[in-house]
Amino acid sequence: MDSEPLIPDRTCGECTVCCVVLAIDHEEIQKDAGIRCPHANKCCRIYARRPTPCREFVCAWRAIPGLDDDWRPDRSGVLLYPDSCEVGGKTVPALTIHLLHDPETTLANPSLLAFVAHQVREDRRLYLGRLGYPGFRHLRAQLNSPQMLAAAHRGTAEVRAILEQAWTFLSNQPHPQHTLSHRGNHVRSADEVRTSPSDGISAG
Ligand code: SF4
Ligand code: SF4
Repeated sequence: MDSEPLIPDRTCGECTVCCVVLAIDHEEIQKDAGIRCPHANKCCRIYARRPTPCREFVCAWRAIPGLDDDWRPDRSGVLLYPDSCEVGGKTVPALTIHLLHDPETTLANPSLLAFVAHQVREDRRLYLGRLGYPGFRHLRAQLNSPQMLAAAHRGTAEVRAILEQAWTFLSNQPHPQHTLSHRGNHVRSADEVRTSPSDGISAG
């Protein structure tokens, strides 16, 4: 979710990344991370009556000026997740960068490196994330270190090196377990429904 105004005319189009990679734990809909919502197929097939959390969520690509169409998550392989963190006892907005594809290639993307450097120079709270999967939460590593700030002023090669270190760190951490706290509207992928068709959980 994001309180920033959306960019006019920037729409999700055929992207359904958030409908796949994110966990949703709300009384109206429950879904594990990494499971494609069965309503997602080139767009939301129940868009007009989609649940409340789906109405409230937009990724940060839809709200940050200066990012072009190539930054749409399904095209860029980068999900900019509107996050938050504690600074001086206050909750402030943050951004978590989730890599959807090969991290080595994505972390070499000049646009991503320039974006990270700019955000850090502007003192915006930034994390690198590692996506969760069914039953497990995502991880994140903060990027606003003095080392990163210095790198952001010097050039993107150093920014890339720090991002790669952060990715290595995340890759060696265990993901925290995640048990959905709401029940009754658990949506699952068609594959899941086929593999366990008799457990009584609705797929729709
Ligand atoms: S990830 Fe962003 S662009 Fe893609 S469907 Fe979700 S909100 Fe729309
Ligand atoms: S109900 Fe629609 S918007 Fe919500 S997760 Fe499923 S496909 Fe996405």
